[in-house]
Amino acid sequence: MSEKNQDTKPDISRAKSAELYAKAKTFFPGGVNSPVRAFKSVYGTPLFIQKGDGPYLWDADNNQFIDFCCSWGPLILGHNHPHIREKVTEVMQNGMSFGAPTALENELAELILSNNPFIEKIRFVSSGTEAVMSAIRLARGYTKRDKILKFEGCYHGHVDALLVKAGSGLVTFGETSSAGVPKAFADETIVVSLNDKEAVAKAFEEFKDQIAAIIIEPVPANNGLLLQQPEFLQYLRDICTENGTLLIFDEVISGFRVSFTGAAGHYQIKPDIITYGKIIGGGLPVGAYGASAEIMGNISPEGPVYQAGTLSGNPVAMAAGIAQLSELLKPDFYTELNQKTATFVNDIKQFIADRSYPVQVFQIGSIFWFAFTEQQAIRRADEIDPQSMDKFKLMHQELLNRGVYVGPSGYEVGFVSATHTPAVLDKAKQAILDSLDVVFASFKATPQNSVVPENDFRE
Ligand SMILES: *Cc1c(COP(=O)(O)O)cnc(C)c1O
Repeated sequence: MSEKNQDTKPDISRAKSAELYAKAKTFFPGGVNSPVRAFKSVYGTPLFIQKGDGPYLWDADNNQFIDFCCSWGPLILGHNHPHIREKVTEVMQNGMSFGAPTALENELAELILSNNPFIEKIRFVSSGTEAVMSAIRLARGYTKRDKILKFEGCYHGHVDALLVKAGSGLVTFGETSSAGVPKAFADETIVVSLNDKEAVAKAFEEFKDQIAAIIIEPVPANNGLLLQQPEFLQYLRDICTENGTLLIFDEVISGFRVSFTGAAGHYQIKPDIITYGKIIGGGLPVGAYGASAEIMGNISPEGPVYQAGTLSGNPVAMAAGIAQLSELLKPDFYTELNQKTATFVNDIKQFIADRSYPVQVFQIGSIFWFAFTEQQAIRRADEIDPQSMDKFKLMHQELLNRGVYVGPSGYEVGFVSATHTPAVLDKAKQAILDSLDVVFASFKATPQNSVVPENDFRE
């Protein structure tokens, strides 16, 4: 291993970030307010961000980066979009929160519902986690059943019942993946592998009439990008229908990302409940869940399933959502975004093929992921080799040194925004190609064997 790779000091100056991080550690556990930000899976001190504009970020030391993290997905229009900024500023002149209904909630709901054939009613909350937590309660209340089936490698926020990972065996009750989650909660959660129809069928045999819902990220994008075959998603739809179980698509990432109607629209599969977050709030904290009017009729005050929020439907957040979604509805928005992402990714793939590097780039819409493997398709969490994250660590450092910012974990996907012009993408591409050259030269010289952490998911 070269000296440089072991060195935690990057080439770019992070002096101010390091200072801020030292101070932050005196205030927050691990110095951060969400774990992956602490740079535990990569080299060096976390960057503290000063500002963002379009595709660019500036850290506290004034280094400029092309940003592919995009706040973990919400910023599909890039940083500081003028229409969002103007709308938010305008709405803020009238106050920030009322705890009473406003016309802005109607406006955002109408934008969504009149352009989405998969849901009839919606409820706004303040985060993706809250949306998922509420959707699970709704499914349990509606079906009067308790068990939930989830997939290993899908992340659904820090909901107790879903901080559960597979034990050994085809169909397992989960083991909690966080301290503080009662075992009794994990006992209500069945965990199976993605892309495994047999395991799903077995779960339905074993727990006949007990499963309230299957929850899945239809585009699993929190543990690499584990693209599923449409037949598998259709299989889930069918087995749910046969068993009186609700199918929940957790579209917190894929919603308004792979298309305006998310993965449901992309695959033309109608789930029973859909959760949204990230893009829906234009960079402010908004989540939502939606379903048919009949299912949503179970939510309080119409029905017996309780769910509430002091800041739910917050006018400033609604304003940001309205401004962002209005842009997404413009003709050809997704065609253009997805096309330029495909060109960017295909150019990188061509380079990789020319050099015979053992790395894949997976892509759907404006989401991409680098997997350091020879394997052509990765559909299950256990197909990712944790050791391959060694290469990502080095790539991450090389990218930062070349002015490209990606999420600080090899399990995280990249996002392209509308402001990533072909020229910006070309520049980023060159940095990526150069970084790949460094990574493979370095690993060829001395295969590395450091301990790499498993995905700790939580952004
Ligand atoms: C980000 C995410 C969540 C959690 O959303 P938060 O706003 O971070 O609480 C849930 N599900 C999926 C699929 C996500 O990507």
